Amino acid sequence: MAIVVQKYGGSSVADLAKLSQVADWVVATKRAGHSVVVVVSAMGKATDELLALAERAAESGGRGQAPPRRELDMLLSVGERTTMALLSIAVQARGEAAVSLTGSQSGIITNDRHFDARIIEVRPHRVEDELHHGKIVIVAGYQGMSYRREITTLGRGGSDTTAVALAAALSAERCEIYSDVDGVYSADPRSVPGARHLPELDFTTMQEMAESGAKVLHARAVEWAKQQNIAILARRTEDYAARGEGRETRVHASGGAAARAVVVDRNVALLRCPASALPQLFAAAEQADLALRDGVYVDGALRATLGLSAVPSPPTTLAALSSRVPGLEVTLGVGSVSLVGVGAGAEPRELARFWGALGERPLLVFSSPLRVTAVLLQAELAAAEAALHAQL
Ligand code: ASP
Ligand code: MG
Repeated sequence: MAIVVQKYGGSSVADLAKLSQVADWVVATKRAGHSVVVVVSAMGKATDELLALAERAAESGGRGQAPPRRELDMLLSVGERTTMALLSIAVQARGEAAVSLTGSQSGIITNDRHFDARIIEVRPHRVEDELHHGKIVIVAGYQGMSYRREITTLGRGGSDTTAVALAAALSAERCEIYSDVDGVYSADPRSVPGARHLPELDFTTMQEMAESGAKVLHARAVEWAKQQNIAILARRTEDYAARGEGRETRVHASGGAAARAVVVDRNVALLRCPASALPQLFAAAEQADLALRDGVYVDGALRATLGLSAVPSPPTTLAALSSRVPGLEVTLGVGSVSLVGVGAGAEPRELARFWGALGERPLLVFSSPLRVTAVLLQAELAAAEAALHAQL
């Protein structure tokens, strides 16, 4: 029997009513003759709520500390465990055999970078055993276990990566990612009303979009899919639960290489570090597990951006960084707008449109063949996003 991996995001399992719709569709997929592995996110905003609790516990000591990353992972992994157990109960209540498994029980082995760990390998023996026994296997997304046997989490939005990595390890036929949007658009349809649905995308463009801050798919999920050639189908849960079909975006090796998309990341910091302090910057960033994104060295200083979604308690973490790096300037309250697509950052005609749309608003612009990215004040982002999308 062909194996299908389905992943459900937080909004698709936000309450019991939604969870039962998911259970119906999971059972229908199984009864259509598939072996089914389901990967779930935490319910609704559960991860944010747990994170807020952790920050309050850390603040209670009055020393301005961020919560230790190891403990964050112990806490955050609970969100997905709640969903997996409830969904398994709901599926069994419909007369199908099911079993819920944590990330470590599913053999998701990661490095030990807590709060933003990378999957190193997947040993899915337990999952395979349960499938052989005819069960629907329901896996907690976003979590794994390091070689040191510590519980880790995979970075915000990381359940997508669990799903794709499992799909690859199980040689699944496909990986279906369900959420509250019916695929990937040329801009975020919630903020750009004219955004166009993209029926197909190639891995490279999708990965670049995700790395520029598009939340629709986790960047590392696309990286895995590309390496292992697993097609990702992004769908809206409601369409499939109600009708068994709907619009989708298929992300695969050969799809839609001419696609263009505008991607906004509201959650960025801009750093300026004098040459003399670069050794301290890199040492402190390494110690705090911070990854720099775009960088340029000019006039005796490095300017670089830092995506904040992989940073726990950004203000506390950045204050600690500043105190260790002499002359470091950190600008908060900025975000980035990118135009993504093959050739988008190299073709003069595209660059002319980009600069035409943004004028003199950007604080800084980075470009590479696949992307042009402007860093702007947060207050300017919405207008820049709309102006840039109007050029597509
Ligand atoms: N629950 C985690 C998050 O909110 C992981 C996920 O949803 O993919 O980031
Ligand atoms: Mg997500």
